[in-house]
Amino acid sequence: MDVAALITDLQSRGLRVETPVERRSGGAGPSDSGLLWIEGVAVTVPTGTAWTDASPYLLREEDQGYGIYRDGERLAGAAAGKRPRFYDLTTSDGVPYWKIALLHLDSLASTVLQTCAYWGNSDQCAFCGIGLSLAAGRTVAKKRPEDLAEVAVAARDLDGAVDATLTTGSTSAPDKGALYVGRCGAAVKEASGLPVEVQFEPPDNLDVIDRVADMGIDSVGIHIESFDPVVLARIAPAKARTGIEGYFAAWERAVARFGEGQVSTYVILGMGEDPDVTVEGCRRAIDIGVYPFVVPLRPIAGSLLEDSLPPPAEYMENVYRRVVPYLQARGIGAAGAAAGCARCQACSALGALERLEAAKPERRLIPVQAS
Ligand code: SF4
Repeated sequence: MDVAALITDLQSRGLRVETPVERRSGGAGPSDSGLLWIEGVAVTVPTGTAWTDASPYLLREEDQGYGIYRDGERLAGAAAGKRPRFYDLTTSDGVPYWKIALLHLDSLASTVLQTCAYWGNSDQCAFCGIGLSLAAGRTVAKKRPEDLAEVAVAARDLDGAVDATLTTGSTSAPDKGALYVGRCGAAVKEASGLPVEVQFEPPDNLDVIDRVADMGIDSVGIHIESFDPVVLARIAPAKARTGIEGYFAAWERAVARFGEGQVSTYVILGMGEDPDVTVEGCRRAIDIGVYPFVVPLRPIAGSLLEDSLPPPAEYMENVYRRVVPYLQARGIGAAGAAAGCARCQACSALGALERLEAAKPERRLIPVQAS
């Protein structure tokens, strides 16, 4: 089994752990997961939930690092992310750094506004857990740009963070929170020099995207979550009101300013979407220079989809294999992303598959899997 296939299966079936590893819970992105390096590849793997207890995969501590086992057979070596050293520091007014930003493997990540206009009402995105970590007291509702900048410098110097990924809950203001997350990103970049991705919903006035670009931000994530309009209406009603064409309009404006491959969108699989519609949407996005970051659903405990399961690995691989050759033909890939989820790739096997396919001598002969 190659590493991309192993990561795909692990992210669909989860991993049992004998010894607890660094993990993240709640939050706005893929969560309830352990943070691992598998054969040197950064990966988030669902752990510590009822359904992962049934996984055939086991993480076992070894003399040096860990091994991933299935039925007693060692499949791969792994290293666990250590508790970052900057987590022991506090701001001058006593806020622990870990409540301001977390280290996801080698990326500093923060949700700068931990509240969302849609949380707790009929517009709440079904996969999202943004309010959970706030309710559990694990974070602060609003991070200040100067605090994020201070934490970023420490994360870079003490723990080797290579970029920063900043997201935000949506506000009811016309900019949807884009300008605040942009200001936070600019502060982080100015203080630390790290490349920064900021993530936000399409603002009402697309000129806001130009203002974010003017702040010196490197990459942006504008996340449609699903290209299937039926699924989008069910799992993210507010995003459905923006509509798929609304996302394309925002992406076009963003690509014009940030460049091809520096604009990305999450595409979550496993919510009942039509795979053909999904692949078609990914390819249309790639055509205009947008990186579709295809990920399996992570059912977060406490989210509206907490009783769901991730999609099977075969389903994920089928979509990955229809998207990767298209990315490569277009010259867009994880390697070209300056910062953020598309650069990190830990929540998907897409990047690992890109690297495997790029290493093959006859790249143009990559089989495109039938739908
Ligand atoms: S817009 Fe949706 S995904 Fe984003 S923070 Fe709000 S509820 Fe969560």
